[in-house]
Amino acid sequence: MSKVLVIGAGGVGSVAVHKMAMNPDIFSHITLASRTKAKCDAIAESVKQRTGVTIDTAALDADDVAATTALIKAVQPKLVVNLALPYQDLNIMDACLAAGVNYLDTANYEPRDEAKFEYKWQWAYQDRFREAGLMALLGSGFDPGVTSVFTTWTKKHLLDRIDTLDILDCNGGDTGLPFATNFNPEINLREVTAPSRHWENGEWVEGPALAHKQVFDFDQVGPKNMYLMYHEELESLAKFYPEIKRIRFWMTFGDSYLKHLEVLENVGMTRIDPVKFQGQEIIPIQFLKALLPEPASLGPLTKGKTNIGTIATGVKDGAEKTVYVNNVCDHEEAYAETGNQAVSYTTGVPAMIGAALMLTGQWKGEGVFNMEQLDPDPFMDMLNKHGLPWKVRDLDGPLAF
Ligand code: NDP
Repeated sequence: MSKVLVIGAGGVGSVAVHKMAMNPDIFSHITLASRTKAKCDAIAESVKQRTGVTIDTAALDADDVAATTALIKAVQPKLVVNLALPYQDLNIMDACLAAGVNYLDTANYEPRDEAKFEYKWQWAYQDRFREAGLMALLGSGFDPGVTSVFTTWTKKHLLDRIDTLDILDCNGGDTGLPFATNFNPEINLREVTAPSRHWENGEWVEGPALAHKQVFDFDQVGPKNMYLMYHEELESLAKFYPEIKRIRFWMTFGDSYLKHLEVLENVGMTRIDPVKFQGQEIIPIQFLKALLPEPASLGPLTKGKTNIGTIATGVKDGAEKTVYVNNVCDHEEAYAETGNQAVSYTTGVPAMIGAALMLTGQWKGEGVFNMEQLDPDPFMDMLNKHGLPWKVRDLDGPLAF
């Protein structure tokens, strides 16, 4: 019997819970808790309708460690799956330690008052989890998550040494709306407006946000503009693969998205510091979030595909080789299966897979783990079986840029 407690009833939480319910042999009992219980209940109704499985729901403010600890103790899960926001990571890890339960998330901790995400805060929990005999798995989404598993699998099976690694994240989906973010708008905008950063010859190279553009022809999507960005898995990849000389992350953005973003930034709407408005303090980016569509509402609107993968150049048996591992996910198919668009789907499925591997003991350990530290093979198998099939092919040579 493997009980799981999922925290966060957004798009990612919804997909993860649907996919868990489709695998009752692994997830024998599911409780979904979030700040707004009505959102949990709506997901529970959809899960019941689609899979016949009944899940429990609860209201929880996960910023409250005592309340979170009490809920974990009441539910008694084997694992807590944190699909709320990065701000809650440390509080939920504290609650897991207090209740003696394993932990998993899909995004690393970010302080609210600084648009800065780093693993250092969560890596600092290493000794506490190890001493408690518990496991915390960090970043089991797509990116971070699957991209690190693709890299680890490439290193295990395809290349003796990796010299350069490029992560290419393309969302070729179209909502028909002039401006929407495909995951939590506040987190998304903080990420996209941060300076670009990539790893080269043992150090970080910084540049202005969204200033370095390349066109890439994505399978089943077509040519798209993609931009050099910082992304959290660069930090864990650089740590666990010191052999890699250059690691870069690219994400596609349409012209309309960038035009809106530029205006919003110029007028101060993406600011994260408090501003006085009519006698009270508001944080502009939080107000903007309230105006933008919720990612979970984009499911019925989004058409097209995502294509996310890794291109690694290195050496195999003494010869240079470049390999591309990627997944293509269709927004409409994701919606038909779970009621959510592909960005939520490509994150929620790996969260379910990471949870399944922990619950079945295929991934186990004591302490805080990144995806690069664990055997990629069972994860790669499950991706193929649970809706995110991947392809691997040799490229003629390294990327020309
Ligand atoms: P949403 O904004 O759709 O959902 C977040 C949910 O968390 C909401 O239901 C919200 O509840 C809940 N929540 C927020 N604060 C609290 C709190 N204090 N206590 C309890 N619940 C809370 O986001 P997404 O589903 O799009 O994203 C979820 C997570 O997945 C984020 O951390 C995001 O960064 C990560 N992510 C990771 C990706 C990857 O590939 N690794 C890709 C995309 C997302 P309410 O609605 O009631 O406020």
